[in-house]
Amino acid sequence: MPDGSGGAPPRAVIFLGPPGAGKGTQAKAVAGRFGLAHISTGDMFRDHMSRNTPLGEQAKKFVQSGGLVPDEVVLGMVGDRISQPDCKNGFVLDGFPRTKPQAEALAETLRNRPWGKPLVIYFAVDSDQLLRRLTGRRTCKVGGEIYNVYDCPPKVPGRCDNDGGELFQRPDDREEVIRERLSQYEAQTRPLVDYYQGAGSLAEVNAMGPQAEVTGRVLEVMARPR
Ligand SMILES: [Zn+2]
Repeated sequence: MPDGSGGAPPRAVIFLGPPGAGKGTQAKAVAGRFGLAHISTGDMFRDHMSRNTPLGEQAKKFVQSGGLVPDEVVLGMVGDRISQPDCKNGFVLDGFPRTKPQAEALAETLRNRPWGKPLVIYFAVDSDQLLRRLTGRRTCKVGGEIYNVYDCPPKVPGRCDNDGGELFQRPDDREEVIRERLSQYEAQTRPLVDYYQGAGSLAEVNAMGPQAEVTGRVLEVMARPR
């Protein structure tokens, strides 16, 4: 297993997968093993907005009105982020692109950069299992701890182990909301998956099962010679 920069060629890695597939967790777990920076679009937004950069100011307008941040703003942030020294060996991009036009614009941004063709890892999930995982989520009203009635239940049903707080289901975690989110994701992402498949960049990883097992599968794909 490569452990950091040890002569490995620099590379751009993109994690694709539906909400709840564990991309962020896996990106955190694997990026450092290859000396890559972990770029989460959520972190990038918060960073620009808290520093009040021109891109952050632009993003803020859309975020505050509940709108989607335009592609050129996100791409500006990505371009800026991958120019940072910690991306010298490459990076794992998690949360972007989400659409085919974004993927095409990203390819343009990556042109003439040192990382070559990106490796795109698609987190494949069983939608019924994913639905169960997401709809089982309960949040503590007091401390915000997260439980899952199926996979990680509290000791006393409906009560937080730490502070006894009442556990509730966030409106976002209700089944009809999640079904809608997943089907939107599917419609948006199918062309993106096809695009990367056509470019010979796509590797699929089974994202179901224990976290550590999924990490093993991701590491295996990333360690393959190109
Ligand atoms: Zn609690």
